[in-house]
Amino acid sequence: MSDWTARTLQEADRACLWHPYASAVDHATVYPVVSASGVRLTLADGRELIDGMASWWCAIHGYNHPVLNRAVTAQLAKMSHVMFGGLTHAPAVELGQLLCDLTPANLDRVFFSDSGSVAVEVAMKMAVQYWQARGQSNKQRFLALNNGYHGDTFGAMSVCDPQTGMHHLFGSALKQQFFAASPRCGFAEPCADSELAEIVATLEQHGDEIAAVIVEPIVQGAGGMRFYSAEYLVKLRTLCDHFNVLLIFDEIATGFGRTGRLFALEHARVEPDILCLGKALTGGYMTLAATLCSTQVGTVISSGEAGAFMHGPTFMANPLACATALASIRLLLSQPWQRNVARLQEALASGLAPARDMPAVADVRALGAIGVIELHQSVDMQSVQPQFVERGVWVRPFGKLVYVMPPFITSNDDIKTLTQAMLEVVDGL
Ligand SMILES: *Cc1c(COP(=O)(O)O)cnc(C)c1O
Repeated sequence: MSDWTARTLQEADRACLWHPYASAVDHATVYPVVSASGVRLTLADGRELIDGMASWWCAIHGYNHPVLNRAVTAQLAKMSHVMFGGLTHAPAVELGQLLCDLTPANLDRVFFSDSGSVAVEVAMKMAVQYWQARGQSNKQRFLALNNGYHGDTFGAMSVCDPQTGMHHLFGSALKQQFFAASPRCGFAEPCADSELAEIVATLEQHGDEIAAVIVEPIVQGAGGMRFYSAEYLVKLRTLCDHFNVLLIFDEIATGFGRTGRLFALEHARVEPDILCLGKALTGGYMTLAATLCSTQVGTVISSGEAGAFMHGPTFMANPLACATALASIRLLLSQPWQRNVARLQEALASGLAPARDMPAVADVRALGAIGVIELHQSVDMQSVQPQFVERGVWVRPFGKLVYVMPPFITSNDDIKTLTQAMLEVVDGL
């Protein structure tokens, strides 16, 4: 392993690996990383980058954290994995209790899985089995929002934005769902009833076919980095109750403090029927996700024909991942994290503000530990990515969005370096 150089790693990678949303033939540059500590990634050529991405929302405490390292090694010495069918263990039980305590009071049952997409599949299957058990087997479809993102497996993909999710590529392999316009009412703005007119029309017309509405509360992440009004969620809850459909919140990106509240739903004080968690759940150490549901959903599903919820991942409630998640959440809660995320919001907002005057820029926004510059046109990743690396930061734009969601431990100086690099690169477009 130690014989690798940056170049030989890149060459060997090209010969056999596939990267996310990448070609197998026309290879984009990938940067070999040898270690990561705090908010810094160390590349194989010795360069250090300040990480603005937290490895896609996950690494909220930064890398190589002593508390999380200790949690992993302590659990490793006991058991790294054991099947969850017919067996249980303290890491799963304690994590389940903690998640139930921290989330809205109606959510009292936790189903663990391995990744966010699977947590969404589980949520969707729960919704279908729920209506099946209630004798309404026609309720099998979903209503989602444009600009939404819920994962890349078939069910999850079917509720992602049809354009950015490129639904046409998958033809009839992909189930057709219902979509409504995404909210235009911004965060902390009032939300007129008219914002939900399309939702009302769809529920009026197709409510008897719809099992659930699925949304990312407050922040639409990978589908557009859009922030919207808490009032929208309050109205959506009322509509779901009125039209007899379940409400699924996907907090896979927003969970664990990212928007300034532990869960984004707290901005609206709305209780979903089903809640998906993932990404920052283990502080970015391991892959783990959870789907929580209400007593009502759990009880009804269990009264159905199967008498059970029909899902069971091999690595369900992996003890290493559960122990790490417990340590990560306790670490978060042991700190004045709200103050810290507020500090990041201010540093990101002020650091990015000068971009407003740049010709290439359509909008600049910050919420919690999320900072976004939205451009008029899509960036060319191949030319932009090296410009960030040259400036000592790891920022990975997509489409028209140049954005960061750094680890919560990022210092104001490091935020300054990140935002300065974003300003310079965007100004050169
Ligand atoms: C990332 C993400 C997912 C999918 O999670 P994976 O772990 O990548 O499968 C689902 N929903 C939201 C909101 C996400 O941000």
